[in-house]
Amino acid sequence: MTSSLIEGLYREGEPIADTAAPAGPIAQKWEQRKFDAHLVNPANRRKLDVIIVGTGLAGASAGATLGEAGYNVKSFCYQDSPRRAHSIAAQGGINAAKNYKGDGDSTHRLFYDTVKGGDYRSRETNVYRLAEVSVDIIDQCVAQGVPFAREYGGLLDNRSFGGVQVSRTFYARGQTGQQLLIGAYQALERQIGAGTVKMYSRHEMLELIVVDGKARGIIARDMVTGEIETHLADAVVLATGGYGNVYFLSTNAMGCNVTANWRAHRKGAYFANPCYTQIHPTCIPVSGEHQSKLTLMSESLRNDGRIWVPKRREDCDKDPREIPDEDRDYYLERIYPSFGNLVPRDIASRQAKNVCDDGRGVGPKVGDFRRGVYLDFRDAIDRLGEEAVRSKYGNLFDMYRQITGEDPYKVPMRIYPAVHYTMGGLWVDYDLQSSIPGLFVAGEANFSDHGANRLGASALMQGLADGYFVLPNTIRDYLSHGPYEPISESHPAVIEARDSVEGRIHMLLSINGERSVDAFHRELGNIMWEYCGMERTEEGLRKAIDLIRSLREEFWRNVRVLGAADTLNQSLEKAGRVADFLELGELMCIDALHRRESCGGHFRAESQTEDGEALRNDDEFAYVGAWEWGGEGSAPVLHKEDLEYEFIELKQRSYK
Ligand SMILES: Cc1cc2nc3c(=O)[nH]c(=O)nc-3n(C[C@H](O)[C@H](O)[C@H](O)COP(=O)(O)OP(=O)(O)OC[C@H]3O[C@@H](n4cnc5c(N)ncnc54)[C@H](O)[C@@H]3O)c2cc1C
Repeated sequence: MTSSLIEGLYREGEPIADTAAPAGPIAQKWEQRKFDAHLVNPANRRKLDVIIVGTGLAGASAGATLGEAGYNVKSFCYQDSPRRAHSIAAQGGINAAKNYKGDGDSTHRLFYDTVKGGDYRSRETNVYRLAEVSVDIIDQCVAQGVPFAREYGGLLDNRSFGGVQVSRTFYARGQTGQQLLIGAYQALERQIGAGTVKMYSRHEMLELIVVDGKARGIIARDMVTGEIETHLADAVVLATGGYGNVYFLSTNAMGCNVTANWRAHRKGAYFANPCYTQIHPTCIPVSGEHQSKLTLMSESLRNDGRIWVPKRREDCDKDPREIPDEDRDYYLERIYPSFGNLVPRDIASRQAKNVCDDGRGVGPKVGDFRRGVYLDFRDAIDRLGEEAVRSKYGNLFDMYRQITGEDPYKVPMRIYPAVHYTMGGLWVDYDLQSSIPGLFVAGEANFSDHGANRLGASALMQGLADGYFVLPNTIRDYLSHGPYEPISESHPAVIEARDSVEGRIHMLLSINGERSVDAFHRELGNIMWEYCGMERTEEGLRKAIDLIRSLREEFWRNVRVLGAADTLNQSLEKAGRVADFLELGELMCIDALHRRESCGGHFRAESQTEDGEALRNDDEFAYVGAWEWGGEGSAPVLHKEDLEYEFIELKQRSYK
């Protein structure tokens, strides 16, 4: 580690030299890796234990596949059923380079679109594999009976998502995540029935057990009885989803949190690109202080809906139906004629902010500004008929009507960007192994494939690619060196992990302060949104770091956590999660501060082109920022993984 202390906020450590990807042409790397990975014979698999935390698309698919292979799997989730994981909320679709539409799609094009969409901040090798595996996912899900939308002739239908010019998104109305999760869940249930997977629902992982540098288990709390349990294994997989709820308001399920990842980070797992957050352009706007959750309107709506605001500020109060076309600014179609309403999310979000900052937003004022733009289906209904629109998007329209009381078949929807997805996550190599041997990370919980901006319908693809196809092949190489030396519950590392969980719970319950956990979470969210949200500045980020530090100090002095440890206690659960968000938030701001460039969702106001687009600085920042926990009260350590573009040319992104 070099000793340079950069302004006291972080230190720079050794670069990451190896990502464990095999050498050779990119199109052959994955085949090569699968071949090189040692096999474990079926009789030996029964002697190997794997813990999988998470039962969303990534965790359920990994659990089902490893169970089917014959390993002993222990699967954990904090919901009452694995099929309630947040993946069930996914609406719009899943990408795959099947080229069913014959519109020029290919593995290489999906690879290219994803790297470009991520603003050239993702790793080529992983993204290529994702594109390659995407086609298998659809076959797997169809075989499971996932009811993808079909065309009249019976073939699977496709639609388009942002940042691409082909139709490669498979969907099941606006319920794609639900249908895919039911597929993965039933495969998992089958293994539970077969005895290869043991399910622990209503269990929250609160600590990782690391023995001799290797991940060997977890400490979990039974959320119903409060019992603290130790679970040991030969390898641990985290498939624990994203951390968008650090912003308090987001489209994520209320329970989404960073605790599993953060606990692993504190035990040595690097956290990569924490500042890369996706702000989704089409969400129901914030309407006041009363909300604790925001609702997504799927990006698929941008296939047929047109986005606009009035050209003149004085028209913003008018009934939109009375504003003629010549007085409307279809700003995305105007600025980006090639991609129009289907520009990537980071770009669509920023432009929505720009027109609202310009005083041309619509809907009620929040603070000094109206924060809304129209998403209008008038032309689609004229062209296709209301029934056709209903059959594609019916459940989304119903949801909008129930929340806003307005009928989107008659008046345009009002939408505004909201926090939605986190591209950052635990650093993993080509094998999805973190910097702690034996700890693998899958799905949204890892950082791997989306660079600085994820393209729509690519998260489901990545989660299922990781769980069904990638991890089962790579983890077996690690497991082939096992079973690892047995450890007992009295091992000092196990006792240390258990004591730290119990100590923390005791501490949270004994503070007995005056502010609720939610009050701290909301304040943290406001800081993050204001200073580390859609636009970031050096000054704002420095301020945010100070504010978060003093909020964290107050939290540990003044939080009020009701109830007891030995019973169901949601206040306690939430307190632990918010405590971790208070540490993560600071790291996100440090990461955003150190990255003095704009790329994808990370928009630094100081680094933009003349027409206000994100301006990268490839000379200095073409790397993954992988952060190592520096120790309590010490600065984090930055390890850079240089990004090398062998197959795709680095260019300024353009969707014009
Ligand atoms: C509203 C919405 C719509 C979306 N629509 C799409 C879409 O159309 N297409 C697309 O590609 N993507 C979409 N996304 C993104 C996508 O849904 C997610 O990125 C993806 O589902 C994440 O899956 P996952 O398996 O990684 O994690 P999750 O589904 O979030 O599952 C996390 C699992 O980890 C468990 N867990 C977490 N922490 C702990 C802990 N400490 N202890 C025990 N268990 C724990 C949870 O119980 C859960 O089982 C959408 C996201 C949102 C918010």
